[in-house]
Amino acid sequence: MEDMLQIQGVTVKELADTYGTPLYIYDQNALEEKMEEYVRYFQSSAFETEVLYASKAFCIQEVVRLAKKHHLSLDVVSGGELYTALQAGFDPQKIHFHGNNKSMQEIQEALQAKVGTLIVDNVMEGEYLCSIMKDQAYDVHVLIRVNPGVEAHTHEYIVTAHDDSKFGISIHEKEQLAQLIALFQKTDHILFDGFHAHIGSQIFEPQAFETEVEVMGQFLWDMQQTYGIETKCLDVGGGFAVHYTSDDAPIPIPTVAQTILRACEKQKTKYHLPLEKILIEPGRSIVAEAGMTLYTVGFQKQTPHRHYVFVDGGMSDNIRPALYQAKYRCAIANRMNEQKKIPTCVAGKCCESGDVLIEEADLPETKPGDLLIVYTTGAYGFSMASEYNRLCRPAVVFVKDGKSHCVVKRETYQDLLRGECTFE
Ligand SMILES: *Cc1c(COP(=O)(O)O)cnc(C)c1O
Repeated sequence: MEDMLQIQGVTVKELADTYGTPLYIYDQNALEEKMEEYVRYFQSSAFETEVLYASKAFCIQEVVRLAKKHHLSLDVVSGGELYTALQAGFDPQKIHFHGNNKSMQEIQEALQAKVGTLIVDNVMEGEYLCSIMKDQAYDVHVLIRVNPGVEAHTHEYIVTAHDDSKFGISIHEKEQLAQLIALFQKTDHILFDGFHAHIGSQIFEPQAFETEVEVMGQFLWDMQQTYGIETKCLDVGGGFAVHYTSDDAPIPIPTVAQTILRACEKQKTKYHLPLEKILIEPGRSIVAEAGMTLYTVGFQKQTPHRHYVFVDGGMSDNIRPALYQAKYRCAIANRMNEQKKIPTCVAGKCCESGDVLIEEADLPETKPGDLLIVYTTGAYGFSMASEYNRLCRPAVVFVKDGKSHCVVKRETYQDLLRGECTFE
C-alpha cells in the first residue's frame, strides 16, 4: 500500500470507497496551520493588527468555525456568506462586509446582525448608508474601498493613474472622497475608520505590496494635509500567491506579513500618520494548498497529438482552468511510485471542449478505476462549483489525525430538482 497516497494517515482509496469521487479533500491540519501562521506572523509593535479570512475562497460553516477557533476575523461579500458565518456562530463584530453592489436587503441584514464593519465601495452606497443609519441603534465601523492604481497580475504589477475597475473609488478622486468622509463624520452611528485596498490575486512579488503601501501612505498624507482627514485603519487586502505548479514560488507567510508591516511602519514614520491598525485579507493562501480533488479515471483515447485521460468530474467542480487557464499538478494516487511517465491531457466529462483540467501532465499509464488527484484545489474550487450537465456537486471531507469527517454531503439527483416548481 505504500504506492497509495495518504493524507494525514488516511489512504485516498479509503476516502474514495467511503465517500465516492469526485471528492474534495482537505488536510485540516494544513489548513489550520495557515490560519495560525498568519495570526502569528502578522504582528507589529507599531500597530494593532487583524487578519481577515476572505471567505469567498471557500465558504462553509466548518471553515468559519476554524477561523473563529484561530482568532481570525472574516470577510463576507454577500447575504449568503453572511448567513453562513452567522449560522456557524461567528461574532458579527468581527465580520467585514464587502461588495460593490450590496443590495438594500443585504445592507439591512448586515445591520440587523450588527456586523462590525462595512466596506463602502462607491459614493452612491456611502450616501445610501448615511440616509438609513440615523434610524439604527448601533454604531457601524466604515472603511472606504479605494483604488490605489497598483494593479498586480501574478508575476508583474503596474501603477496606473486611470482606473476603470468596478471596485472602489480611485485615490485620485480626492474631492469626492473628502465629501463622502465629511458626510460619514456628521452621520450618527457611522464611525469612519479608514481605507481598504486590494490589488489583485495570486501575487508573487513582495514589491507589489510595498508599492501599494507607499502609494497609500502618500494618499493618506494628502488627505490629511488637504482635508484634515485623519486615518486610523488601513486594510491592504489579500491576493497572496500559492503553489499550484513547480513554476510557482509563493512568498512565505512570515515574509509577506513582515513586508507589509515594515512598509506600513515606514509610511507612518515618513508622514507622521496617526495610523493605529493594519489589516490583511488572505483567502486563497489559507485554503488552496490544503485542498485536493480526487477523481476516478474512466475511459481514455489517443488523438494524433494527444493522449486523453478522462475523469469523473471537470469544470463543474473546478472552473478555474476553463475560466482563466489556471494550471494544476496531479498524480495517479494509487500508484505514486511508478516511474514511467507519459504526457497526458486530463479532461473532464462536461460538454465543453474547454473542459480540460490539465493540458499536459506527466502520468504513468492509467487504466479505468485509477484514482487521480489534483493538488491545490482548496480555493475557488468548491466555492465556484456548479451543477453543469446536472452533475451532482461533490462531497467535501476534512482529514485530521488519521480520521476523515464529511463536512458537505455529496448532492443527490433529488437535490438537483429541489426548488423546481411546476405550474399547471
Ligand atoms: C478576493 C478578495 C480577497 C482575497 O483574495 P485572495 O486572492 O483569495 O487572497 C481579499 N479582499 C478582497 C476585497 C477580495 O475581493
